Amino acid sequence: MECDFTGKEAYRQYFNPKDYLNMHMQFESENIPVHEDLFSFVLENLQKAFLVDGIGGDTLIDIGSGPSIYQLLSACEAFKEIIDTDFLEQNREEMQKWLKKDPEAFDWTSMVKYACQLEGNRENWMEKEEKLRKAIKRVLKCDVTLANPLDPLVLKPADCVLSTFCLESACKDLPTYRSAMRNVGSLVKPRGHLIFAAVTQETFYMVGPHRFSSLYLTPEVVRDAVKEAGFQILWSKMSSLHWSPEITDAHDVIFMVAQKLKGA
Ligand code: SAH
Repeated sequence: MECDFTGKEAYRQYFNPKDYLNMHMQFESENIPVHEDLFSFVLENLQKAFLVDGIGGDTLIDIGSGPSIYQLLSACEAFKEIIDTDFLEQNREEMQKWLKKDPEAFDWTSMVKYACQLEGNRENWMEKEEKLRKAIKRVLKCDVTLANPLDPLVLKPADCVLSTFCLESACKDLPTYRSAMRNVGSLVKPRGHLIFAAVTQETFYMVGPHRFSSLYLTPEVVRDAVKEAGFQILWSKMSSLHWSPEITDAHDVIFMVAQKLKGA
């Protein structure tokens, strides 16, 4: 079932971080996330990029972090500094709660244990949480529709920019998507990396009782946008999703690692 584009105002009003987390980050038992098809795929590919391929450096910027930390659990082993960003104040506040160990913060323990288990050391989860808390140095506002998504701040181009499931939520059509990809890509230094995960063939996803639109993407559209933004795709993988149609109509998830061309 399609849904009209939910723009910035809808996000401000209806995107409740706890609803998002409770719905998308649930665990069906201590060891198995309800959406294991997505999380095993994304976390394993992040591990490959950061721990096997050796992509690392001083700074990683995560664009559209939302209230989530799962996507940074391997990155914190490879970067000295992580910059978290999101369009919404309520998401940035949720992130700050976790960083400060606020009792009201979402409990990420199961996900952190799961990620550590995939890395081969489930016992390591407390050290992992601390390592990530230390690595996240800033939580900034961003808007991927701006030429400089971090405006008014101008940051030094980063070694790596990561983004999971943000652009397809933020963009109303393909021209906006392609320009958002260029905007996000502009934050990467020459020869630096752009790593992202996107859902394809999705038109909506739920956050609590609210339906949010998703831009319908195909793998070709995603690949072309990355190349147009001045990147060479090093590798990409796809996997199919089997979520309840009450939560999303997403078909597949694509994961991509790209490198900025020298002159781009
Ligand atoms: N990366 C997170 C969140 C994905 S949900 C995860 O993997 O769980 C989509 C996110 O896109 C939300 O946090 C929302 O606030 C953010 N978003 C929506 N419009 C945006 C915009 N114009 N610029 C940046 N982020 C935006």
